[in-house]
Amino acid sequence: MTHTPSTPVPLLLLGRGADPQSERGVECPGDLPAASDPDLVERARKARAALGDRVFVLGHHYQRDEVIQFADVTGDSFKLARDAAGRPDAEYIVFCGVHFMAESADILTGDHQQVVLPDLAAGCSMADMARILQVEDAWARLEEAGVAGATVPITYMNSSADIKAFCGRNGGAVCTSSNAKQALEWAFEQGEKVLFLPDQHLGRNTAVLQLGLSLDDCVVVDPHQPGFGVTDEQLRAAKMLLWKGHCSVHGRFTAESVADVRARIPDVNVLVHPECQHEVVTGADYVGSTEYIIKTIAAAPAGSAWAVGTELNLVKRLAAEHPDKTVVFLEKTVCFCATMNRIDLPHLVWALENLVEGRVVNRIEVDPDTTHWARVALDRMLALPGSGAVKD
Ligand code: SF4
Repeated sequence: MTHTPSTPVPLLLLGRGADPQSERGVECPGDLPAASDPDLVERARKARAALGDRVFVLGHHYQRDEVIQFADVTGDSFKLARDAAGRPDAEYIVFCGVHFMAESADILTGDHQQVVLPDLAAGCSMADMARILQVEDAWARLEEAGVAGATVPITYMNSSADIKAFCGRNGGAVCTSSNAKQALEWAFEQGEKVLFLPDQHLGRNTAVLQLGLSLDDCVVVDPHQPGFGVTDEQLRAAKMLLWKGHCSVHGRFTAESVADVRARIPDVNVLVHPECQHEVVTGADYVGSTEYIIKTIAAAPAGSAWAVGTELNLVKRLAAEHPDKTVVFLEKTVCFCATMNRIDLPHLVWALENLVEGRVVNRIEVDPDTTHWARVALDRMLALPGSGAVKD
């Protein structure tokens, strides 16, 4: 029997409501301040000061500078979720990042804390590529092929809470881009195969470059193909079952981008994130998580040149912070994360001023059952060797 995915993703028009089943959403009730309001910075400062320690503002590295200036801490998704968990006294956690990150913060913080995402349209295209009903259908496909019992589901941090909970329920775990190797090693001790969600590139790059598997050990599970695009034989033979998802930012870099920058800048060091395509990663000099990229540039000698393959807000900030080094974006064309950029100063002011008035807007709340199982998957990750200190 051939499984046809039963969960087509409908087109969601801007301004026509939110889709609670996915990372997508467009609602923003109330009056947003105009982006042209010259008092926005002052209004944010005032609201921030009025809330004092009752609010804790988190800023992801890919956020705009206009937002980052109001963050109490900056970091990547996992660090920020843990930072939030370290502030149990803060009544409100304002998460300047994307939806799955705010969910993780809600999972890891106490019931008395409320997590706010200033714009619900700040989703993540990668997280959207694996929806829970699709993944459950895929698991049924693995059962049909007789391989589900030997398969351990591992999901990247960049996934919705219900996908994390799916992994928790089915003996799997969460991973970050820093501990994906340890997570895969752990998974291969529990079973013979891994279903890696939702980023095929991180899964492939880790399996091939860090675990020594071959490209032939990997198959792509495509939720938009009949039977998920794989035969029973392929599912039985493969070790890595890679969900067909990718980051729309990191997926844009190509082998040509690497060749082009090497031709333009002599002695350039190419530094990329493992969400990039396999041929980009193999063509680079250095590969690592966002935190690794930040540390590598900071530790680089003055006068060195770096082409960085990650989100443009971060690359621009690194270039500004290290004027003694040449830091350029790996692509020639502009490549911001569109959804990260949804969080701007007007939305931040709107969220903070509502909190001052006692109104919690755009609260992100994960239900207790999903929280429980997602925590199981997160706790398995935290128990991995060295994971106390990992950064996504
Ligand atoms: S950079 Fe990629 S993975 Fe990160 S939020 Fe944007 S789309 Fe998602």
